Amino acid sequence: MTKILHRTIGTNLPKAVAGQGIYITDSEGRSYIDGSGGAAVSCLGHNHPEVLDAMKAQMGGISYAHTSFFTTDIAEQLAEQLVALAPEGLDYVYLVSGGSEAVEAALKMARQYYVEIGESRRRHIIARRQSYHGNTIGALATGGNAWRREQFKPILPETHHVSPCYAYRDMQACEAPETYAARLAAELEAKIVELGGDKVMAFVAEPVVGATLGAVGPVADYFKRIRKICDKYGILLILDEVMCGMGRIGTIFALEQEGIVPDLVTIAKGLGGGFQPIGAVLLSEKIYRAFAEGSGLFQHGHTYIGHPIAAAAASKVVEIIKRPEMMANVINMGDRLQAGLDAALGQSPYVGDIRGRGLFRGLEIVADKDTKQPFDPARKIHAKIKREAMQRGLICYPMGGTIDGKFGDHVLLAPPYIIQPDQIDMIVDRLAAAIKAAI
Ligand code: PLP
Repeated sequence: MTKILHRTIGTNLPKAVAGQGIYITDSEGRSYIDGSGGAAVSCLGHNHPEVLDAMKAQMGGISYAHTSFFTTDIAEQLAEQLVALAPEGLDYVYLVSGGSEAVEAALKMARQYYVEIGESRRRHIIARRQSYHGNTIGALATGGNAWRREQFKPILPETHHVSPCYAYRDMQACEAPETYAARLAAELEAKIVELGGDKVMAFVAEPVVGATLGAVGPVADYFKRIRKICDKYGILLILDEVMCGMGRIGTIFALEQEGIVPDLVTIAKGLGGGFQPIGAVLLSEKIYRAFAEGSGLFQHGHTYIGHPIAAAAASKVVEIIKRPEMMANVINMGDRLQAGLDAALGQSPYVGDIRGRGLFRGLEIVADKDTKQPFDPARKIHAKIKREAMQRGLICYPMGGTIDGKFGDHVLLAPPYIIQPDQIDMIVDRLAAAIKAAI
């Protein structure tokens, strides 16, 4: 009998015993293509020799030193690598142990920034419905996923939500993408005005929405308009790249595709590539200066921030993903994945939309393609697809639709960047068969 409180109690999970490249093997000898890198984590696949060597080398030096006493070469090196890759304006790095921690730290940085500059009246956070920013209390409050928030609502701090940028369902037939982007920007501005322009501290958004919508990117100009509105009211823009960042969509940072620079960026998942738990917040000079010239500290911290072994793994992952052939493969294999999914599932009456960027692709499953009517959530189509896919040796990341039935079930694919063409084709074949069997 298990002594672990698993995510779902009473399910008989297979035991993962080995990983190699894009494959995971279980204790029964079954092999699975890790078609979603877990939850968009394993960006270099499993057992990558260069990353393992980097971790081993670090273990021979210092494995842990509390960050209130010491810094380490490896943490300093990782921060320098990240700043060198980030667009100008993101000049400092705060290291944490995962995505939720990164979001919590970014929110507290935003709040402390305004306290430091004498604008402590700023306290409101605005984010978007159908977003996910993590499961800790502050991050959960920021996320707009009603199902995840429902039972915890009474203990969540107050946050505010506006519409996501979700063209498949929300852009009207008569609307051009620019008009749609303008409408969403106007909605944000109206919310800011309602709360008081001098009382809002941050707007938080995922550049490409992962867990709650399934690889939904913004329409052109959306983030440029959002940036302008944030600037107009002096509000910090926080982009959450925990899932879509670190090369996942074909550029190291997702924001590079939007032509804007936010004030704070959160990264995790692909940063450690699953080899180590690590995340980070990149912040602007303006925020760093406010702390440095104000109280002289960031009033935050966890025991494992800046962990040397995690930093060693991340430093090697970053070094590898920035090699030109890596991003080229993400783009080429991403195109192949989209084309394969279009060919195999584009005509399916149950696949409403196939979308995404790079090796971050999503399929929305619907009961009626013309009306975009989702399946009854009680049918748990996403869970059935997951089961059928695993039986066929494929790990994909399916999620249920919204509790109000407005958005459908979806499946997220996020395979490792080292994937090869024949392996992409196997993902498509296995997923198509799993969807057919599940519905
Ligand atoms: N932010 C986004 C956009 C995510 O997708 C996730 C996890 O899926 C998180 C934050 C939370 O990250 P973690 O699970 O590492 O705490």
